[in-house]
Amino acid sequence: MTAMLRISELRLPLDHPADDLPAAIIQRLGIPADALTGFKVHKRSYDARKNVRLSFIYIIDAEVKNESAVLKRFAGDMHVKPTPDMEYHFVGKAPPGFSERPVVIGFGPCGIFAALILAQAGFRPIVLERGKAVRERTQDTWGLWRKHTLNPESNVQFGEGGAGTFSDGKLYSQIKDPKHYGRKVLTEFVKAGAPPEILYVAKPHIGTFRLVGMVEAMRAEIEQLGGEIRFQQRVTDVLIEDGQVLGVSTASGEEIRSKHVVLALGHSARDTFEMLHERGVFMEAKPFSVGFRIEHPQSLIDKARLGPHAGHPELGAADYKLVHHASNGRAVYSFCMCPGGTVVAATSEPNRVVTNGMSQYSRNERNANAGIVVSITPDDYPGGPLAGIAFQRELESRAFVLGGSTYEAPGQLVGDFLKGKASTALGNVEPSYKPGVKLGDLSTALPDYAISALREALPAFDRQIRGFNMYDAVLTGVETRTSSPLRITRGENCQSLNVKGLYPAGEGAGYAGGILSAGVDGIRVAEALTASLLGQG
Ligand SMILES: Cc1cc2nc3c(=O)[nH]c(=O)nc-3n(C[C@H](O)[C@H](O)[C@H](O)COP(=O)(O)OP(=O)(O)OC[C@H]3O[C@@H](n4cnc5c(N)ncnc54)[C@H](O)[C@@H]3O)c2cc1C
Repeated sequence: MTAMLRISELRLPLDHPADDLPAAIIQRLGIPADALTGFKVHKRSYDARKNVRLSFIYIIDAEVKNESAVLKRFAGDMHVKPTPDMEYHFVGKAPPGFSERPVVIGFGPCGIFAALILAQAGFRPIVLERGKAVRERTQDTWGLWRKHTLNPESNVQFGEGGAGTFSDGKLYSQIKDPKHYGRKVLTEFVKAGAPPEILYVAKPHIGTFRLVGMVEAMRAEIEQLGGEIRFQQRVTDVLIEDGQVLGVSTASGEEIRSKHVVLALGHSARDTFEMLHERGVFMEAKPFSVGFRIEHPQSLIDKARLGPHAGHPELGAADYKLVHHASNGRAVYSFCMCPGGTVVAATSEPNRVVTNGMSQYSRNERNANAGIVVSITPDDYPGGPLAGIAFQRELESRAFVLGGSTYEAPGQLVGDFLKGKASTALGNVEPSYKPGVKLGDLSTALPDYAISALREALPAFDRQIRGFNMYDAVLTGVETRTSSPLRITRGENCQSLNVKGLYPAGEGAGYAGGILSAGVDGIRVAEALTASLLGQG
């Protein structure tokens, strides 16, 4: 990498012409114009709280002549420093003729990145994915949204690309990432067809249509490197002897031997969690959250968040993030906010209703939606590692019945919900959930403590986003799959606490909570596995 300087906190007005940027860099560094030999934007953000005089805040990597002299002048200035090395470095590569092949279960973001890193390192992984390839999967997903027909093996949760394929494709996360794995994830996404701006905008997103093509491109790379991706291969058993995994078997009756197996299952693989529990793989219940989706006109959110800049093409549709600590001790917060998007049917099990949200890259649908969810802990669902699944299932079944038992989601206007009155007609917010919304009373859709926390939080949110509490905003339920209800606990070297060679990873194992963090965890686990394959770990 060419040596560069990193300049942070460089502010320019929202409408600044492109050539203001080099001029601002030159001015900040106090160098002659010809001393700036190149630069690239590392990050661009804006502070929406200052919505009257909004400006872009840049972090720039600049290439300058006589760099050490410039750095010396800025010694002690935290806003001008050497650019850190963010390149990805492999921890090891397969020697020629290496024959042991790792198995990766699941081809969501975690499985994709575990397999990609292993393939790039020469280990020719075998990926087993229960769902179908992404194009066929898309047809099945539409089957539920358009025709009320669920395919339990091919849907929003299961299939190539994993749970995030039909999503807003938000790519930010608050995880600690000292080794810059997130950068590797974004770089690979761009290579696979994501818009290059995801490398520098503060809150990148991709949207559904692009994700579909990207997933196919990453599959092609893994295959070209000697890996295999086998669809419609549901893993139904793991072979364990003396605390060591020896392989897996699938619903089709095949047995695949390997002493290195990544479990990148996602949070909806309930049958697989049950099987692993039966086989004695250590797991424990963990907290998650439940609630509803809320929909407002996007224009209301834009106005509240961006003030006079609402609708500015450089800013796009505005998002929000809200938290309220309710008097009954529950945290209520917004989850997976999708600007200009739609609410989607996200169940993977028959006769259950689950909501979630997605957007296209353009984010130009009329409504903003987000989960508004309440934190719950294993004390709310005592009974061991699988009790959270039973709790989720009960709420999802109840929502199915409240929605009329046709996969429509039960819904209620916010005003009616706060008054404790069933809704009978929509106001001026048209809900986007397909196959449809059945209006009524949501107060029995969640436990009482969650309903009362939500009734307290919505007016509190209105103080942060004026209009949030509008009478006609629509709630649909239920949001139950916010994260995994259990953790398949890892011990040393990312392996299961009690089964050697088994690598629980990603969201289903409780080690990620989104596309980016699942991809990062896939890399982390691939590295631990590489060390073990090469006899170093
Ligand atoms: C509608 C929706 C919108 C979302 N929007 C966003 C967003 O905008 N940004 C964001 O960061 N996150 C979003 N998420 C969450 C994100 O998708 C997940 O956090 C992420 O996909 C988790 O990645 P993963 O690889 O750990 O698991 P998953 O993506 O769930 O992948 C697991 C894979 O394993 C397969 N599998 C399960 N069991 C077996 C088995 N027994 N045998 C073989 N294969 C199996 C599944 O079919 C699945 O493909 C969204 C989720 C949904 C559902």
